Amino acid sequence: MSVKMSDNNRKKVVIIGSGLVGSVCACFMAKRGYDVEVFERRDDIRAAVEVKGRSINLALSHRGRKALNSIGIEDDVLESAIPMKGRLLHSAKGELKRVVYDPTFNQCIFSVGRNYLNKKLIQATTNFPNVKIYFNHLLTRSNFEEGSVTLINLKTCEEFKRNADLIIGADGAYSKLRLAMQQTPQFQYSQQYIEHGYLELSIRPQMGHKMEPNNLHIWPRGKFMMIALPNQDSSWTVTIFMPFEKFENLSTPKKVLKFFQDTFPDSVDLIGENDIVDTFLKNRPSELVSIKCSPYHIGGKFLIIGDAAHAMVPFYGQGMNAGFEDCSLLDDLLEKNRNDIAKTIQEYSKVRVKNAHAICDLAMYNYVEMRDLVNRIGFQWRKSIDHLLFRSFPNKWIPLYNSVSFSTMEYNQCVCNRKWQDRVIYKIVMTIGIIIGTIVIIFFKSFIYK
Ligand code: FAD
Repeated sequence: MSVKMSDNNRKKVVIIGSGLVGSVCACFMAKRGYDVEVFERRDDIRAAVEVKGRSINLALSHRGRKALNSIGIEDDVLESAIPMKGRLLHSAKGELKRVVYDPTFNQCIFSVGRNYLNKKLIQATTNFPNVKIYFNHLLTRSNFEEGSVTLINLKTCEEFKRNADLIIGADGAYSKLRLAMQQTPQFQYSQQYIEHGYLELSIRPQMGHKMEPNNLHIWPRGKFMMIALPNQDSSWTVTIFMPFEKFENLSTPKKVLKFFQDTFPDSVDLIGENDIVDTFLKNRPSELVSIKCSPYHIGGKFLIIGDAAHAMVPFYGQGMNAGFEDCSLLDDLLEKNRNDIAKTIQEYSKVRVKNAHAICDLAMYNYVEMRDLVNRIGFQWRKSIDHLLFRSFPNKWIPLYNSVSFSTMEYNQCVCNRKWQDRVIYKIVMTIGIIIGTIVIIFFKSFIYK
């Protein structure tokens, strides 16, 4: 891949973490002609043995695709991704109902394996001669005055410092770089663990063909839900999201099976009784955290991106997509500011914080939509009205889900859009109500006076 060698005196970038976002960011920075060093605490996952059926898959949508396109690997990733055109809702009686994401333009989201994607992204960095990845290297300290980070080689236990023009923390929700930022004045930070956890199950390939393909399956049950996303090998990754308290109550094989037979009856044969019981009794549900902070930069060279800056609950399928969009934005701003890093990261915080906070809030809201609202008539009516208006005014009336998943409209703007749309619909409903009310009154009056 050709490297853009602009007049930037070969700036040096250090990226912490070669997860999904760190790897994409490395490609962007390398493409700009920067010398990039990535430090990752884990071993090289390309050499690790994959545990079949256990790796979570992720929904990739427009924002993520755009970033992958910019670094030249969108087509490659989509080749192994599975399109999901809508939600397929499973009722407690096993009846199915389809809710297409975009009946107007047929846009869809894509299911991709996390491990597969991460390996692909790390591999993509090797297309750039100016990227070096160091595995088994842990960030231990950050010195903002000195502009340096301290790392430890986990194989040799050797500790060393690195300076760079730009130091980017892409080290995930429990970011060590963000932890250091939290100790600086005026840094705002909040985290919220929701009272629901998740457990992953799997539908094996032999049974997977019984599931209707190209959909995100949801078993919405009001206060909790189960979802399934397709994998390349015809298996499905099934995730149950539920209050921790409810998980704790399911403490014996009999209780677990009864719960599944009563609540998700059509899934029992697909997953298999033994696998359900085993998963419930041998695993603890994982936590879900939402993190907001501000700003995303310190001084003129430290920046956090991806989950390090804005971990969110997974219900909008936007965590990774937002992280990839961070990389696109950083690149755009560097271009606009002619590689002035200090100016860029300051502007980055200004633009990104409000949008990242907006998607964190939307992700919380979408849990209620997925597990409960989808079953309600009012919600279904609203979706139909939204799509009718979208078809008539595609540039003016963009429904919330479409603006989040199929556009690059700023997340904050998506929320504002939805608010004015709510107001318009409220006014239309009120006007129709008043007209009908007036007609009824006139009709009765004329009837009485006759
Ligand atoms: P991570 O993926 O956490 O990567 C961080 C990397 O940094 C890791 O490789 C880690 O080893 C390394 N690291 C950490 N600390 C250090 C250190 N001190 N030194 C060196 N290296 C370090 N998002 C979507 O867009 N769509 C979805 O459908 C979706 N589904 C999800 C489902 C679930 C159940 C969950 C939990 C999340 C989901 N997400 C989804 C969110 C998505 O997984 C995250 O947003 C994404 O992984 C963030 O990538 P990241 O690179 O910022 O962080």
